[in-house]
Formats: sequence, C-alpha cells, structure tokens
Amino acid sequence: MSREIVYIGFGSNLGDRLDFCDRAVTLLSLLPHSLVTGVSSLYETEPLPENNPGPQWFLNGIVRLETDLTPQSLLEVCREVEKSLGRDQDDRSGPRTLDLDILLYGARVINEPGLIVPHPRLHLRRFVLAPLAELAPDLRHPLLNKTMQELLAQLGDRSVVRRLDPQPSSRYGSRPSCSSAAAARDSA
Ligand code: ADP
Ligand code: MG
Repeated sequence: MSREIVYIGFGSNLGDRLDFCDRAVTLLSLLPHSLVTGVSSLYETEPLPENNPGPQWFLNGIVRLETDLTPQSLLEVCREVEKSLGRDQDDRSGPRTLDLDILLYGARVINEPGLIVPHPRLHLRRFVLAPLAELAPDLRHPLLNKTMQELLAQLGDRSVVRRLDPQPSSRYGSRPSCSSAAAARDSA
C-alpha cells in the first residue's frame, strides 16, 4: 500500500452546520491507516443555484488526510460518514447535513463511473478553492498544471465565500488547525 496525500472537501447547509462539519472532521480523524494532517478554516458560502441545495448558506472547509486507503474505500467511507450524519440518500442534491467530496488523491487521475478525481468541478468553485488555496497554495492540479492559488486567482465564480471570523473552536477537541499541520506531519 502506498500512502497518499488526499484532500477532502466537506460542506453542510442543513441543521446544526457547525456540529456536522465538526463531527465529519472528527470521524475522518479516526479512520484506520490514515492521519489528518491539516484542516482549513471554516468558510460560510453562498449556495450555488445550479446545485439546487435550497436557500441556506453552507459551511465549507477542507481536510488533508494522509492515507493508505484506496480511493474506492475512501469514497465508501465518505458515503458512510454522510449517512451516519443523516444525509438524505433519496434527495442527495437537496439541502444536505453533510457532503464529502474527494477533491484530490495524490496526483492520481481516476475516471470511473462513481468516482472522478480530481473532482471535476474543483477548479470552478470558489467554496472549494478558497479553503484549498489556504491549506495548499502551491499544490498543483494534476490535469490543469496550475497551483490552487493560481486557479483561485483566475476563477470566474463570483459567489460569496467568507472566512468565519472569529473561527469557532472544535467541540470535539481533535481538529488540528491549519498551522499545526506541519507539526502533525512531523510527528507521524
Ligand atoms: P455533489 O456533486 O453535490 O457532491 P453527491 O454528493 O450526491 O453530489 O455526489 C454525486 C455522485 O458523485 C456520487 O454518487 C459519487 O459517486 C460521485 N462522485 C464522483 N466523483 C466523486 C468524488 N471525487 N468525490 C465524491 N463523490 C464523487
Ligand atoms: Mg458529494
């Protein structure tokens, strides 16, 4: 098994959004063969009408995970976490307690019926690129060969994405901040 650095986007626009995001990060941090090495700030973001998620704004962020899990296993885990946090499986595109998307899995390019990596809309969405550029500004998109910072700078999406200020603290005490990522990696 080879350890890869993976970026997972999370978002919630239904119910106690902060608690769902918090619990999602905590559950990801408990995965076997995996280590959460960074979490972006939380952002409040305007819902994009094309996704039809209802009027409530989202809380969004990104987790960086070092993992031995295969992309397919990781997707399964993401679906299980979504389910355990009450995601409506019959109306997946509606308002959601929690959405988890595999944005990048190392530099791998995957094109399977249920799994496309890099996530096909990563480079088009401000709610993804803002936290991703915070966590990994110099990371290159494997297909577009641009850094996350460059993709954010050239982005056409004008929807509102604002970093929460002050940042809420985690209720579960296990959310590493962006700046503690290097320390976590060094001690891995
Ligand atoms: P959204 O695009 O709003 O996140 P869903 O969460 O319902 O919508 O996901 C729709 C489908 O996208 C899922 O059935 C999943 O199998 C598929 N999918 C393809 N690539 C990915 C990926 N990289 N991460 C997560 N889901 C993915
Ligand atoms: Mg999704």
